[in-house]
Amino acid sequence: MPTFTISVIPGDGIGLEVVPAATRCLERVASRHGIGLVFNEHPWGSEHYLATGRMMPTDALDTLAASDAVMLGAVGHPDIPDTETLWGLLIPIRRGFQQYINLRPVRTLPGVRGPLANDAPIDFLIVRENNEGEYSEIGGRLYRGSPDEIASQLAVFTRRGVERVTRFAARLAHARTGVLTSATKSNGIIHTMPFWDEIVTELAADEDVQVDSVLIDALAARMVLKPESLDVVVASNLFGDILSDLGSALTGSIGVAPSANLNPERNFPSLFEPVHGSAPDIAGRGIANPVGQIWSGVMMLEHLGASEAASDLMRAVEEVLSAGLATPDLGGSTTTAEFTDAVLDAI
Ligand code: ATP
Ligand code: MG
Repeated sequence: MPTFTISVIPGDGIGLEVVPAATRCLERVASRHGIGLVFNEHPWGSEHYLATGRMMPTDALDTLAASDAVMLGAVGHPDIPDTETLWGLLIPIRRGFQQYINLRPVRTLPGVRGPLANDAPIDFLIVRENNEGEYSEIGGRLYRGSPDEIASQLAVFTRRGVERVTRFAARLAHARTGVLTSATKSNGIIHTMPFWDEIVTELAADEDVQVDSVLIDALAARMVLKPESLDVVVASNLFGDILSDLGSALTGSIGVAPSANLNPERNFPSLFEPVHGSAPDIAGRGIANPVGQIWSGVMMLEHLGASEAASDLMRAVEEVLSAGLATPDLGGSTTTAEFTDAVLDAI
């Protein structure tokens, strides 16, 4: 029986509620498909930070490297600045494991209504560059507190970095409608964005896909006005981050949106996490929507090559949503545990 070892970091807040929901579903669907899953849990995150001053131990990456994939809930704490949680855990894992793709499906689920009046089904993929770009450590502040104060931050785009994210997105587009939408801003950002555009044009030709290069501002508007016109969107780290939150809002609730941080070459484990954070406002009440976490688990099964188990689990989730079960964020009163039990039954 093929067996995969999964490192599990439930993290903080509702991560502690939705991760166990997802691992139960994964275990059930895997066993029905003759797949073994071994979960190794790591109690890292904000409690660890409050106790030790670090989000995770110094040898955390070595520990995770031994596994086939990493499942993360969420990290965040009202008393800890977001920069600590981001730079102390997520960014070191994304960069250390060369997870240069952040893949976020934007798809409406049955029974989940989005905010748009025109509720044509939405189904596209956002491929966000995950390792470089605007999130650089280069920059600084001068003359703090004075009227002449200056802050600067350098965005760093490398040919290798832009080529590999574009190639990944172009291949996805090739397998779908053959159109790759690229988020740009080359009218205002006159060095990095023309460089991005050139590489996208080159590689799209190479992968035989058509490029639709759209200014990020216009693309944000188009996502709201005509989301059904999109299929695969490739974007830089910052633009992709903003578009994917907009995408999760369009499909009804941030609680249902999944994401994968992929190292496509499989030199290192990939990481799967919902788009939402630790949601301290609802943590501990048993009402968090587990769909984003479970769907991230579906993406993990796909990445591991267990496609049948993946589609079986997704079908089970959609069946439960179609039957009208909904957590409070979707307007219902189903609890996390009731929703999860229904998914287990549907499997
Ligand atoms: P963090 O600092 O960890 O990012 P946050 O509160 O800033 O946490 P989210 O956790 O994404 O950000 O929460 C944004 C809003 O969406 C909150 O009101 C939260 O309750 C709600 N929310 C997020 N995830 C879920 C979920 N899985 N189920 C229900 N509501 C959710
Ligand atoms: Mg947040």
